[in-house]
Parts: sequence; C-alpha cells; structure tokens
Amino acid sequence: MTAPTTPSAPASTPAGASAWVTVDAAAIRDNVAELVRRAAPAHVLAVVKADAYGHGLVTAARAALVGGATWLGVAQLDEALALRTAGVTAPLLTWIYPPHADIAGAADAGIDVTVGSAWNLEAVVAVARERGRPVRVQAKVDTGLGRGGVLTDWSEFTAALARAVAEGAVELTGTWSHFAWADAPQHPTVRAQQDRFVEAVAELERAGLDPGLRHLANSAATLTNPDAHFDLVRPGLAVYGLSPVPDLGSPQDFGLREAMRVTARLTQVKQARAGQGVSYGHEYTTDRDTVLGLVPMGYADGIPRHAGNAGPVQVRGRRHTVAGRVCMDQFMIDLGPGTDAAPGDEVTVLGRGADGEPTAQDWAEAAGTINYEVVTRMAPRLPRVVVGAQDDA
Ligand SMILES: *Cc1c(COP(=O)(O)O)cnc(C)c1O
Repeated sequence: MTAPTTPSAPASTPAGASAWVTVDAAAIRDNVAELVRRAAPAHVLAVVKADAYGHGLVTAARAALVGGATWLGVAQLDEALALRTAGVTAPLLTWIYPPHADIAGAADAGIDVTVGSAWNLEAVVAVARERGRPVRVQAKVDTGLGRGGVLTDWSEFTAALARAVAEGAVELTGTWSHFAWADAPQHPTVRAQQDRFVEAVAELERAGLDPGLRHLANSAATLTNPDAHFDLVRPGLAVYGLSPVPDLGSPQDFGLREAMRVTARLTQVKQARAGQGVSYGHEYTTDRDTVLGLVPMGYADGIPRHAGNAGPVQVRGRRHTVAGRVCMDQFMIDLGPGTDAAPGDEVTVLGRGADGEPTAQDWAEAAGTINYEVVTRMAPRLPRVVVGAQDDA
C-alpha cells in the first residue's frame, strides 16, 4: 500500500499524568510496509507479543495489518485470545502454552497453535478428537537455537504428525524455526540452521506432508538475510522501528522509525549547593552550586535501575544524565546552574534519535541491556497515548 508519511506528531499529553508513552501507529504501519517491501514475495507475520513490545497489543496489531502484514504472532495463547476478543480476525500464530491451556478455545477462535513437542501434538489431537474437527497447527523444529521446538526426534515427530494429519485431527498450516545468531548474519550457525531447516521440511515432504508456510526469519534476518525469508518472515522489533542489529545500522538506515516516545514532566526543580549527595546512597554528588530536577519515573515504570548515573534525557532541547540511583518511582537530573527549566516541563526520556532525543538504544547502552528490553518494560501504569491511528483496520 502507499502509506502517507506522517511527520512525527507532537506528544499529546494525558491530563495530569506524570509520565506517559506515546505510540505512533502510523510509524508501525509504515515500518510494516517497509518490511513487506523487503520481504516480498514472502509475507509478513508481525510479532505483537508482550503487549506489542510495550506499544499496546491491539493498537499495534491493527496498525501492522494496515501496513500489509497478513499474519500476526504472539508468544502466549492468552495474548492470542485477547486479540480475538478485541475483534482482530487476521491469521494468528501462538507458540507458548502449558499443559491444560485452552487449546479448544484457541481452535474455536481460529488461532494456529504451534506444536513443538510430542506432548503439544498429543494435546492438540485430543482436543481435535473431542471437537470432531481438525485443529490448525504449525510444526516447530529446533534447528539449533536450543530453545523451543523438536530437537533430536524430528523423525518420530514427523511420523506422529503424519498420523495426526491422516486421522484428520490436525491441519498443518506451517513449519518454522528460530535463529540463535540472526543478529550476526555471518555467524556459521546461521547457515547451519537454514540447512537444517530445509532438511527438516524435506523430511515432512518425504512423509507425504505439505509443510505449509515455511518461516525462520526474525527482524534481524528479515533485514540482513534474504536467503532466510522462505514463505513468511516474523519481525518483531523492527515493526516498532528499532534496529535489531545496532552495530550494522540504525533504524533510519533500514527505512524504519521509532514508534515509541516516553515523556515525563518535571515535578520539582530546586537549588542545591556544591557537595550535595543525590538520591539513595549518594552515588552522585554535585560538584558546584546547581539546580536539580525530579523526574517522576522509576524502575517501577520501566526505567532500568542499571542506568543510574548513565541514562540520558532531554529537557528544553538539552541532554542531561540520570544523577545517582534510579528509585522505584523517580530519579533526579542535574539541570546545571543556569537552567531555565521549571516544574511541568516535558522531559523526553526516549524518542526518535532523528530529533536529537535519547533513543531506546541509548538507554540500552547506558544500562548494559538491549533496546528490546527497554521498550518492552515500559510499565502498564504509564498511560498510552496513540497518535497516527487509522480507523480502517
Ligand atoms: C520474539 C520472536 C520473534 C520476533 O523477534 P525480533 O527479534 O523481535 O524480530 C520472532 N519469532 C519468535 C519465535 C519470537 O519469539
């Protein structure tokens, strides 16, 4: 589709909130459109697990569909059911559920359930027998990640799957796997996993099965490894405009833009003398008479505690750094002696680097983590303000 480019919207403010998350649905739509373009002829399954990496499950799902995603994916079965409850009818894949999960409910809701172990398949077959109707499943092979999926007994699993298909208990709609080192495209495991995947699919075919949609690529592989696109790609992080390979390129380098902006309001601005210790444990001490600002966000809101004395923010166009420890609900910044900042001023915690603001990647580096974790942990208690949404999804 030809998506109009919306200029970055000014952060709208929920009345009275100390801090909030602004989600640019137009950015999600455009990022997906870019991924669709890069993946073609493969289709795009937009991963919206973990509340769409903190962006809001339903908002992101709808924007991704407008952008051209033909599938949605979530880790947990309950997230998939939540999408159906919200009226999202697109093809939908889930891959994590415990024994006794509501597989029948998932099947009734038209959710494709991943089977990546013998017990998964047995549970699905039992549900299908009870319903007298096949359950749509996708088979997951562990090609070397060493996490979910069938690792050593793919042949036995293939045979069991063939029996289940023959019995009419399951309809195999896809076969998939996941990379260990997609963010290092030259790593030898990447090629080895692709080869193993092709072999696993061939084994299904030799057993007379149609593997359905074959998919392997996350964001990093979607952006850097066209050989891994197969029939469908499964980007998550890139949907939200973040780079899965920050050493290889920025979001802008890949034609993406950050969809999340986090803003707080200064709730206190006060003079402090030189030598004043700041926040718990006094891990920061003012080196001159200065002005301190209180930012009403803390680790309960998703500000990494590891970003004490390191996390970046922007106030009135100027960068500042967290002063001392991050607390549960607040942290301090040293605004400098000449500041004109005042209570109520907006503090940009993270946003689009293009505007000179700190980014999720900056916070990741400050806290010794990855950008995924920074956005995903923005807490439910922060109000979400959606801009750029379209009603036709
Ligand atoms: C989270 C996840 C993805 C998306 O990964 P990104 O690196 O965010 O693109 C794809 N597939 C599976 C199985 C996942 O768990």
